[in-house]
Amino acid sequence: MTAYKHATVPAKGERIEAAGGKFQIPDHPIIPFIEGDGTGPDIWRASVRVFDAAVEAAYGSKRKVEWMEILAGEKAFNATGEWMPAETLEAVREFKVAIKGPLTTPVGGGIRSLNVALRQELDLYACIRPVRYFTGVGAPMKAPEKLNITIFRENVEDVYSGIEFKAGSPEANELRDFIKTRFNKNIREGSAIGLKPMSPFGSKRLVKMALEYAIKRGKKTVTMMHKGNIMKFTEGGFRDWGYEIARDEFAATVVSEADFYKGGTGARADAVILKDRIADSMFQQLLLRPEDYEVIATPNLNGDYVSDAAAAQVGGLGIAPGANIGDAAAVFEATHGTAPKYADLDKINPGSVILSGVMMFEHMGWQEVADRIVRGVEKAITAKTVTYDLARQMPGSTEVSTSKFGDAVIAGARS
Ligand code: NAP
Repeated sequence: MTAYKHATVPAKGERIEAAGGKFQIPDHPIIPFIEGDGTGPDIWRASVRVFDAAVEAAYGSKRKVEWMEILAGEKAFNATGEWMPAETLEAVREFKVAIKGPLTTPVGGGIRSLNVALRQELDLYACIRPVRYFTGVGAPMKAPEKLNITIFRENVEDVYSGIEFKAGSPEANELRDFIKTRFNKNIREGSAIGLKPMSPFGSKRLVKMALEYAIKRGKKTVTMMHKGNIMKFTEGGFRDWGYEIARDEFAATVVSEADFYKGGTGARADAVILKDRIADSMFQQLLLRPEDYEVIATPNLNGDYVSDAAAAQVGGLGIAPGANIGDAAAVFEATHGTAPKYADLDKINPGSVILSGVMMFEHMGWQEVADRIVRGVEKAITAKTVTYDLARQMPGSTEVSTSKFGDAVIAGARS
């Protein structure tokens, strides 16, 4: 076991072990958490009470999560002089399942994104974001309940592995000259230049995870969202590699949309249909025909945009959970950021982290806990006991603080 300098390993807990590609979850698993910057501490305080109450309601004293704080972001910098201490990454590697609040990323220069570092260093290659409607939320759509999708966003390539050179910099100029002399392609003088690497390996494993999820959950379709009409070899490659993995590894369970509509042997009624849509069309489709989509697999940047847009359709970022999953570890986190203007006001919606906890408990196989928390959130929303963000869209609701919303969820989770 690693010797931790800044974190304390709970004496009573046990490590989650991996055997034969499966995680073994002990009754008292040690789960590291990162509180996060900005509104992170407010949200974590409410969320952890919900998690503990739901575990206790489901299993009594038989099971309990032993939480272990690990440092990242401003709290880490103040305590250690580093934004992401090596032992934080090591703890996630060692304990395999972790949950985190949002971390600040300065725009334009400064420190590298801590979130990107975490995802890349631990190879958490799929960012999974389920988007569903909770009855009663004042969403902007006429029929928000028709949107019920899970987004699989590639999490380590594309712009997350992007290399950029500043406009007019010697590097950008040199690259421009190289591209002109070597490939006879013109780039306007003084341009900034960005590279966007995407590989068959990275794309295939993401689409594979989305297909496995669809098969396991009995979904009918998986849609690859890409911009391959313009970026033929990166985004277009993503689509081609996706169809390739379906053909090579899922011939018995997955059929391409083209084969399905052609009829014949590929057109099995029980197969998952793999289709693809251009990114811009996907946005209008989600607004106009949301019921046609269940699972979306997409490269990094598209996934970023579509996650927030879809979350807004069903009522906002306050109830948008997420998970970063790799083969060896998983880190659960909300879709939103630090929302710094609300820090320490006990005001922000903790729903996204609470629902990220639902994904974490599902991942651990503690389904009873996940179900109780979902029931708690549903009951709080149905009773119109909600934080400011939902209250402003729900006439007749009672606006409550972060902590009081946590109390309402706990009451529902216990019932
Ligand atoms: P943001 O923190 O997501 O906040 C944007 C707006 O979304 C907020 O002002 C608020 O809207 C709404 N919102 C966000 N979280 C909410 C919640 N829990 N409940 C209710 N409403 C919520 O985005 P940002 O201001 O662009 O980013 C701030 C910082 O967070 C940046 O440094 C960014 O890099 C970082 N970030 C981190 C992560 C991460 O750690 N995974 C993800 C995204 C961004 P209203 O003003 O309308 O109330």
